[in-house]
Amino acid sequence: MSYSDWIQSSKSQRVWLEDSMTALGQFAFIAPIHRVKHWNPSARRRVKCWASEGDCIFCKQDIPKIKEFTYGLYKDDCTTDISYVSATLSTHTQFQKVFSKLIEENINPTDIVFEIKRTKIKTSYGRSVNGYILNVTKIEAFVKEKFRPSLLDSEEQEYRWVVPEEIVEFLKDKDGEPISLIDLFLLIRDNFSGMDEKDLKTYAVKLISNNVLNLRNAKEKWI
Ligand SMILES: [Zn+2]
Repeated sequence: MSYSDWIQSSKSQRVWLEDSMTALGQFAFIAPIHRVKHWNPSARRRVKCWASEGDCIFCKQDIPKIKEFTYGLYKDDCTTDISYVSATLSTHTQFQKVFSKLIEENINPTDIVFEIKRTKIKTSYGRSVNGYILNVTKIEAFVKEKFRPSLLDSEEQEYRWVVPEEIVEFLKDKDGEPISLIDLFLLIRDNFSGMDEKDLKTYAVKLISNNVLNLRNAKEKWI
């Protein structure tokens, strides 16, 4: 197989799909690189947020922040070079859900070739936005394990989110505050209509320790 439908930047290893396009991809790692960007309306493009602490010039102008999650993937079996695809928080949340399910079945998500489609996805808030969806295929891995970086290469990759980051983000101002399980459940249920109530119940249980909201519980070690 040598043909790939990914659109490739001429300047970098960045790839993307336009609406309704589908392409194959095998993830090189499942913990994405996490960056904050601003949409600069005058330049009409995303620009980096320079604030590691405090505010950058765009923060000060109240230009909205966009969280960008960049995943590495192999787009065909011709090369072990990694391409990079950027995802929104909503797409990232869906990807992590797919990966977690596979891991529960003892399948390494980086062994799988996915069919990746650019389409409308439902956010956890119940809105419809552009994003990517993943479908597992039976296609043989493009790149064998010994040629790939370790799944648990960096400190960031030692942990996985057991509660979607969208929910953690939504609750971040309440971290450490006393709250009952039922109140927490109702709070997230009222705001995340796009998610299954059974899942939301599990998340609420995970996030409470001794009647206090504890967002550190949203992450667990892979092994
Ligand atoms: Zn900023």
